[in-house]
Amino acid sequence: MTFVLGLTGGIGSGKSAASNWFELQGIQVVDADIVAREVVEPSQPALNQIQQQFGDWVLLANGELNRRALREHIFKDPTARQALEAITHPAIRQSIIQQLNEATSPYVILVSPLLFETNQHELTNHTLLIDATEQLQIQRASQRDGQNIEQIQKIIQVQMPRQEKQKIADDIVLNDGHLDHLYAQLRPLHLKYLAHAEKS
Ligand code: ADP
Repeated sequence: MTFVLGLTGGIGSGKSAASNWFELQGIQVVDADIVAREVVEPSQPALNQIQQQFGDWVLLANGELNRRALREHIFKDPTARQALEAITHPAIRQSIIQQLNEATSPYVILVSPLLFETNQHELTNHTLLIDATEQLQIQRASQRDGQNIEQIQKIIQVQMPRQEKQKIADDIVLNDGHLDHLYAQLRPLHLKYLAHAEKS
């Protein structure tokens, strides 16, 4: 089984910037956010289960999931969130496992904003936290998405606090400078992971 690196960090911390760099080094990346969208596509069983659970209003006229309506629904109702996650999380996990198993690069990365929160780190051999101050997270995420500061703060609040993630992660990169500073910190880690991968 290929050595799996779990890469995580809060919104706007620089996960994508880091995983793009690893991809340029030839390392395959499985993105939990992309998998989460794939498992609720119209051809997938999870979408049917969501419709059974919540009703037809969860579907748009074209048969796709009405993400906005469902997001608003679960935001107000924690029980509904749990019911949704009971459907989506196992489907996401299954698909992640399959994609990790299919990887052919020297090691493979699972990038997930909720790596620890959803126990996806259990699927990895080693974890790397991309860390940034809340102020930088807000600044970068608002520039990237045009989302207002309040929305980004809400997302930060439901994610595990930085300090908690720092305690759990095997490696930490503080992304508090230019992108070159980020890449310079990633380079020795990449060499370390290649060495780990050869041994495993
Ligand atoms: P995440 O995937 O963790 O939400 P991103 O990697 O998308 O975060 O980074 C958020 C935004 O900030 C992106 O537009 C990215 O290009 C930019 N960014 C990330 N790190 C840096 C950095 N060190 N310097 C400047 N911009 C950065």
